[in-house]
Amino acid sequence: MDEIEGKPSKQNKIYPVSTIVELLRSGHLDLEPDYQRGDVWKVKQRSALIDTVLNDLDVPKLYWFEKGPGKFEVVDGKQRITTFKMFLDNELELDGGEYDGLFFRDLPVEIKSRILEFKVVVMQLSGDRWDEDVVQDMFLRLQNGTPLNPAEKRRAIMGKIGPIVDDMASTKVMAENCAIPEARYGREDAAAKIIHLALGNPDIKAKAIEETYKKGDLNESHEKIKAAKRALNILSRGFNGRGIFFKKYSIISITTAIIELLAEYSFTDKESAVADALQAVEARRKANDKEPSATDEGQELTRLTAAARSDRADHIKFRRDFYRKVIISVGITPTDQRRTFSADEKAAVYFRDGKKCKCCGKEFALEQMEVDHVKPFARGGLTDLGNAQLLCVPCNRSKGATA
Ligand SMILES: [Zn+2]
Repeated sequence: MDEIEGKPSKQNKIYPVSTIVELLRSGHLDLEPDYQRGDVWKVKQRSALIDTVLNDLDVPKLYWFEKGPGKFEVVDGKQRITTFKMFLDNELELDGGEYDGLFFRDLPVEIKSRILEFKVVVMQLSGDRWDEDVVQDMFLRLQNGTPLNPAEKRRAIMGKIGPIVDDMASTKVMAENCAIPEARYGREDAAAKIIHLALGNPDIKAKAIEETYKKGDLNESHEKIKAAKRALNILSRGFNGRGIFFKKYSIISITTAIIELLAEYSFTDKESAVADALQAVEARRKANDKEPSATDEGQELTRLTAAARSDRADHIKFRRDFYRKVIISVGITPTDQRRTFSADEKAAVYFRDGKKCKCCGKEFALEQMEVDHVKPFARGGLTDLGNAQLLCVPCNRSKGATA
């Protein structure tokens, strides 16, 4: 289960420098995943790497995560790979050594081919096993000693918020339904990120989260913290006893979606239905990862997987909005008496009703349709999915005329 069909979760490959640079040029290597937070190398360091190759010394192993067929995230090695490319592109002048002041183009042919053919070991990781915590933990182990990870550093400055985060981290859903290792404050880190996002911050970069906690104006009675606890309790009740394990990024996205929805909806007696829907979508996502479907939903699920494991603001928003739609489609109860259906609700009815007008039975694009109250709003009909039907614009207008 931890493996992409037929592939071990890690294997060493050996590539010549020329192949690595070609893979980068042709878009097979993604250099911008989240764990790439190291410093950008100076010319001196880049030159030293080329010098290592020229002297036929050892270049440390690169780590790539296979995120899809022929697509790799560079987990470790960004600076080495970009240095190789810069050098082959004649954008790097050697600084020191036998070839001081020369570019790639200036070198003798046999030296050029020595560089192009130099072999580098790449550890290729694939499968579910390598979520961000596991990868981060692996690097901490690779380094000598164990420097503090962001969650551990944050504990030093948490103050009043510390017990709140601990409390959230030990809710039932976090303890029983998440594949987050307890070691090194993984769950506390998830809880801290949930609060940070609930406060309206767009991303979860360690530095920004630190700022949130330094402010120190967060406490038990803060509206968003109360909502965060309610959201986790809703999930705890819904997933009670179910053998499902969410990845860290999933639980963060789902919880922040619920926090948003709590401003407009009540989840009373809908906890199980919400859990059913989330469990079902997770199953469909896994099936779609194996065999991508070209349907609207298939494409959305493909995007969801692509946006997973990422700290980028647009990916975080996509994941939260995706789960919002899933949860709204369950038919949670609006707490106010809105007259109009939201765009999310309209989309939910659209897919529920098979994109067809309830009146004339024809299929239309989403923009050509309107959501209608089955029992009219004016006669006490609720603005909720149980009282919603999809009509094409002409049918809805003529219904209005005869009503
Ligand atoms: Zn119609």
